[in-house]
Order: sequence, then structure tokens, then C-alpha cells
Amino acid sequence: MATLAQLAAAGAASSFMAWAVRGRSAQIFGRSVWRGPRNLPTLALTFDDGPSEATPQILDLLSEYRVPATFFQCGHNVDRLPAIARLVAERGHEVGNHSYSHPYLFLRTPSAIETELRRAQDSIANHTGTSPVWFRAPFGVRWFGLAAAQRKLQLTGVMWSTIGYDWSRRADEVVARLTAAASNGAILCLHDGRELGENPDVRTTVETVRRLVPLLLDRGYKFETIGRLICPKI
Ligand SMILES: [Zn+2]
Repeated sequence: MATLAQLAAAGAASSFMAWAVRGRSAQIFGRSVWRGPRNLPTLALTFDDGPSEATPQILDLLSEYRVPATFFQCGHNVDRLPAIARLVAERGHEVGNHSYSHPYLFLRTPSAIETELRRAQDSIANHTGTSPVWFRAPFGVRWFGLAAAQRKLQLTGVMWSTIGYDWSRRADEVVARLTAAASNGAILCLHDGRELGENPDVRTTVETVRRLVPLLLDRGYKFETIGRLICPKI
């Protein structure tokens, strides 16, 4: 029978693993950032799961306010909508890698993980002309083999300081949540797609951007891509 100490150790190990897999500050499964410097009134808007048919609506809102963002694209969606993927890069936004088919990396083999990242990297490079340097893990889940795959592809992981839950909550709730969480160096996570769904309903996300960007500009925040947020001198 397990002793109390063994049970406590097992509990600690499982909570450690949970943090290692999903914790925003964890770097156990690969180099990763989750926020920028706290000494500048600068933050980053990030969008995952695109491109989708609705991405141009978000691009138009960002253009209206002259705000750059970072789009973590899925290779499958890039292959499906290459012109929209390219438009994101042409508008001056940064494009990151969000895997090819948006799987949970949990329990995958190292070679399957590398293939997911590499296929997305190739698809994004082919269609947008830019090779991502940032990777956001689907569902924020990292696993054994990811560190090596990131190293081979020269990718750094990016988590977030606050996630918007824009796939499940109302726009007013998402805006309130992100506004309350805005701070120097914040990385805010929204979604211009819904995993691999075609014609996804992202009206909440569009409405969130429409309301959130002017609110944060009024508060004196400047928006940056992840690259410029993390390395302001570049
Ligand atoms: Zn995602």
C-alpha cells in the first residue's frame, strides 16, 4: 500500500506535469515566453486558428486603428485559404506557427510533433513568404519532443498572459476580461478561426476587436507584434 509520503509525491508529480504541459510560464517542453517587458506600456494582440473566411474583417479593423498583431496560423487553414493567409502578412502583421492540424500534442511521438510543426512551417512559408519564428501550441499543450522540434525549426514558444475565451463567451464578457487584464507586456489571446472549421462563427471575436482596440488605445497602450514586444530594440 502506498504511504502518505508516496501519495503526496505522486500528487506533486502530477501537478508538476500539469504545469509543465499547460502552465503559461513553463519551459520544460521547450523555450517559451508568455509576456513582454513590464516597463513599457506595450502589449500584443494574438489570434490563433486562422486564417478563416472572417480574418479579413479583423484585418480591416486593425488597419482602421493602425494596430499590428500576431496571427498563429494552422497549416491546414493556410492551404485552404492561401490568399487570406498571405493578406495577413501583406498587411504587416506577424505570422506564427500553430501546428498543421491543431492536434493535442499530449502523448504524441516526437516525430509526429516535429511533422506537425514542419508541415505548418512549410505551408506558411510557401503561401505568405515569411518563415515563422514563434510557435503557439494548440490548446496550450506541450509535450516531450516539442523542445527538439522547436530547436530544429528555430521556433520559440509563445503562451499568453490572458486568454479571451472568445469561442465560448459573449463579446462584452471577453472585452471586460481582456480590459481588466491589460497591463504592460501583456499577451492577449483571441481566435480568428475555430480550429480547422470552415466558415467558423467568429462574430464574438470580431466584435471584441472592434470594442477592445479603441479602449486600450485610449488607456495609452501601444500594440506590437510578438517579435517587437519581446525584443523592443529590433
Ligand atoms: Zn488553437
